[in-house]
Amino acid sequence: MKRVYTFGDKKAEGKANMKNLLGGKGANLAEMNLIGVPVPPGFTITTEVCTEYNQKGKDQTVELIKKEVEAAVQNVEQIMGAKFGDLENPLLLSVRSGARVSMPGMMDTVLNLGLNDDAVLGIAKKSGNERFAWDSYRRFVQMYGDVVLGMKPESKEDIDPFEEIMEELKEKKGIKLDTDFSVEDLKELVKRFKQAVTKQTGKDFPDNPWEQLWGAVMAVFDSWNTDRAIYYRRMNKIPEEWGTAVNVQAMVFGNMGSNSATGVAFTRDAATGENIFNGEYLIDAQGEDVVAGVRTPQEITLEGSKRWAALAGVSEAERAEKYPSLEEVMPALYKELFDIQNKLEDHYNDMQDIEFTIQDGKLWMLQTRNGKRTGAAMVRMAMEMLKEGRIDEKEAVMRVEPNKLDELLHPVFDKTAMGSANVLTKGLPASPGAAAGQLVFFADECDKYADSILVRIETSPEDLEGMNIANGILTARGGMTSHAAVVARGMGKCCVSGAGELKIDYKARTLEAGGKTFNEGDWISLNGSTGEVYEGSIKTIDPELSGDFGHLMELADKYSRMYVRTNADTPKDSKVARDFGAKGIGLCRTEHMFFEGEKIIAMREMILSEDLAGREQALAKLLPIQQKDFEGIFEAMQDLPVTVRLLDPPLHEFVPHDEKGQQEMAEVMGVTVDVIKQKVEDLSEFNPMLGHRGCRLGNTYPEITVMQTRAILGAAIALKKRNIVAKPEIMIPLTGTIAEMKMQEEIVRETAQKVFEETNETIDYLVGTMIEIPRAALTANEIAESAEFFSFGTNDLTQMTFGYSRDDAGKFLPIYIEKGILKNDPFEVLDQDGVGQLVEMAAKKGKATRPDIKLGICGEHGGEPSSVEFCHRTGLQYVSCSPFRVPIARLAAAQANIKEM
Ligand code: PEP
Ligand code: MG
Repeated sequence: MKRVYTFGDKKAEGKANMKNLLGGKGANLAEMNLIGVPVPPGFTITTEVCTEYNQKGKDQTVELIKKEVEAAVQNVEQIMGAKFGDLENPLLLSVRSGARVSMPGMMDTVLNLGLNDDAVLGIAKKSGNERFAWDSYRRFVQMYGDVVLGMKPESKEDIDPFEEIMEELKEKKGIKLDTDFSVEDLKELVKRFKQAVTKQTGKDFPDNPWEQLWGAVMAVFDSWNTDRAIYYRRMNKIPEEWGTAVNVQAMVFGNMGSNSATGVAFTRDAATGENIFNGEYLIDAQGEDVVAGVRTPQEITLEGSKRWAALAGVSEAERAEKYPSLEEVMPALYKELFDIQNKLEDHYNDMQDIEFTIQDGKLWMLQTRNGKRTGAAMVRMAMEMLKEGRIDEKEAVMRVEPNKLDELLHPVFDKTAMGSANVLTKGLPASPGAAAGQLVFFADECDKYADSILVRIETSPEDLEGMNIANGILTARGGMTSHAAVVARGMGKCCVSGAGELKIDYKARTLEAGGKTFNEGDWISLNGSTGEVYEGSIKTIDPELSGDFGHLMELADKYSRMYVRTNADTPKDSKVARDFGAKGIGLCRTEHMFFEGEKIIAMREMILSEDLAGREQALAKLLPIQQKDFEGIFEAMQDLPVTVRLLDPPLHEFVPHDEKGQQEMAEVMGVTVDVIKQKVEDLSEFNPMLGHRGCRLGNTYPEITVMQTRAILGAAIALKKRNIVAKPEIMIPLTGTIAEMKMQEEIVRETAQKVFEETNETIDYLVGTMIEIPRAALTANEIAESAEFFSFGTNDLTQMTFGYSRDDAGKFLPIYIEKGILKNDPFEVLDQDGVGQLVEMAAKKGKATRPDIKLGICGEHGGEPSSVEFCHRTGLQYVSCSPFRVPIARLAAAQANIKEM
């Protein structure tokens, strides 16, 4: 088995399509060599070795790869004309992780590996730059100490021990910036850093380069299993067993003086999708300086630099002097970089996120990958690349992650509310959207308020979980490529970064901005599209959708076989869903209508009545109200099918459990409170979800089914008189046996007949059922004798197949997922292996009895992309989901179909 793949000097053993084995970074480093882009030579240790390491541990893994790694290092030595561990002409290495898909900030990196007290002298001599040599050494000890030797601070209030030592020395010397340290200072820092290592770890810092290399490689493997990496994987559904590759490369230096630089760039704008090359760089710096937010990075292009200055309120004179673009400072190298980014985008036909370093006037590319982007950028880029002829329609549809559409549908600030809003300060528009929330200063406290804004000097991967919970993120330091910006964009979360005027005091938990002091819990608002930070909570409204979005949705419909309905039970929701492209209602839950105002009283009267006469009297009051509700919904959905489900929940959910409510009912019904209390008591059940609900209600109290049928068909007839076409489909809930279904069907059809005779009108309607009880799925061939359609109620079906109560699963599901017993919450992502079998079986059996049976799904899974794909494969005609998920489902339906083409 080959475990190490080399690359360099325009040759490579790997290539772009070997991401599973080499990780994304490794595969692309190989590919860049193959297309002639300058890349520092190196090698990739495969992801399979990570898996071996997890099973066998360090010593055995080193044995397995030792020979191949030694040969690969030799190859790098030959290309670079330097020797690893050499005193005169030492080769230095970088060690970086790289999983199949990029996991920002998840994995650790070590640079300048190979330095020790002797090699530093060799580097100083070779580069003719003593300061550079010692600065690199200082950085190496610090990074290696943090990443490999575990020196990172444990507590969130503590600072990095190395930073502390640097701060001490800066104070003593009266200097501000890292670049102000003299060579002697740097030597002193290395000495003190090493002392700190010995003191904290009980072991001396390793001087042997090979010991350093093995330590770093194993640390990369270890970082696959850190809490934050595990959290990120869970959030993004990345399997544990993938593992990470390790990339070892010859170091190139961006910190060799004023003729060196390092930067990060995107071939298009990752926030808006605009086709414009952009990015940030720093002169005389190493990679982490650009993203760490210690120095303010400068724009690469002149145009970008001018845009930035306008946003930051920096004058043109000041910009040109203090923050010039790379285009101005190094025009020839800029041109080379510009050509390479073009070449990379042409080669990959997708927006690239690239890292580069200029070492003493020579440009090196360190990385390229398909760049992360906001939902809006994703849609715009896909549609523009389609117009540019780079990709075809199917590819354009496949380019957009369905769940990312959610961001486009998210709120923006209400313009009228903005009028009185007070801008506190401005940062960079790092991730678009609008958010309001209460201030928190620590990521693990984001759940303190229902709406929180996380405020940090800068964020780090440890903050991931909190960032996910917060409504928005605000940082004082860091540019558009800072951790906060990149992660927030990935999450589709509003973020303002690099708001330099902010003063944040973690100990006192205060924020100073715009001349005011804010405490934890105070409200602020962020506009991630402009970078503005506002005092107080500003109202948000729904966004307007761009033409690109409409175009994408058209293509989605063109390429899908299934169509999308919505779950809605008000005219307003129906309208929203229709505007999002819903082709009907897949589930109208009638019970929701009974909770408003006078309706609940009549409903309670019906439930609490002693006998049939009492119930019928109350139902007579409910009938016109219910019919009005249906008229509203049918009108909003005219010409489209509307599946109305008959009453489903256990009756006790409707009755008053409080004294006041019981008193009120007693008065309405003219009985004593004790009578009401007794009745409420009688209705309580041990297992209401498995109790007197669904069609069991309609079969024990047929008058309820009669009333609802009258309301549905009455509404349709009333609209027909106004020339509005309603297409009702009456759905029986919680069917388990054919007899249950038949009895309900008979009541519905008899009632319909009566209504038609009374009104001298007719309406086309269907009668069908939910398939949400395992027995119904098992006997679907029988049930289809009566049901004209099946709608899979995968919420209940999941509940009953797993035996997990929908209401109580919250207590153990998170633990099950954490322990890996379950991969996903089965109430969110359809369990295709188990519950899916029942769906498949019922679909097949249903069709066997009734070949033209209509099949759909209306459980929560109808808006979840992987479940939508399953529904497509299973041959359902439609999925139904909540209004805001309709576009997501439409796109997922198209992708499912395209995958089969
Ligand atoms: C279901 O069970 O999947 C369903 C859609 O019905 P409800 O969620 O109302 O029980
Ligand atoms: Mg149900």
